[in-house]
Amino acid sequence: MQIPDPALVLLVGAAGSGKSTWAAEHYRPTEVVSSDALRALVGSGTADLDASNDAFEILDRVVTGRSRRGLTVVVDTLGLDAQRRAAWAALARSAGLPTVAVVFDTPAAVCRARNAARDRPVPASVLGTQLQRVRDVRTELEAEGWEVHVVGGEASEPSSLGSPASS
Ligand code: ATP
Ligand code: MG
Repeated sequence: MQIPDPALVLLVGAAGSGKSTWAAEHYRPTEVVSSDALRALVGSGTADLDASNDAFEILDRVVTGRSRRGLTVVVDTLGLDAQRRAAWAALARSAGLPTVAVVFDTPAAVCRARNAARDRPVPASVLGTQLQRVRDVRTELEAEGWEVHVVGGEASEPSSLGSPASS
């Protein structure tokens, strides 16, 4: 998988699909901006949803600052909010940065198992909705002008070798 650099790299995937792990493997910590980390920074923890607005305000400022400087920024959120995606894409494009979406097509059963093993699991119904939305989002991303890459989420899994029709 060849991702341009610098670029705005949007991670898209359900809880437990492996987004943050992948980002840590491929990018420097300062290149990654995470809504979970910012919720923990301005609120009581990664799951403090009351802190979301403050967290996203900071996230937007980080995307703005890094884009303007032509620096890679990896946006680690669910990536499922079309309005937020549009705002980040506009920032990147006005700075001349390519907009890349990395979709985590991790099997639902793997996400569910990882989620269940976590300290504070996302409710099963919420995860189910996220998984469905991730399945539908690829065509939306392409229509929005993102360069879409798909990863299987598990390095050793055969499914990660299958390429989507679009790539
Ligand atoms: P969230 O949306 O909740 O932040 P996430 O998509 O960032 O989830 P991670 O936190 O990266 O998911 O991964 C969830 C769990 O799965 C972690 O315990 C991590 O160690 C494990 N994991 C992630 N990627 C892999 C992988 N490629 N192989 C094996 N385990 C993995
Ligand atoms: Mg994460």
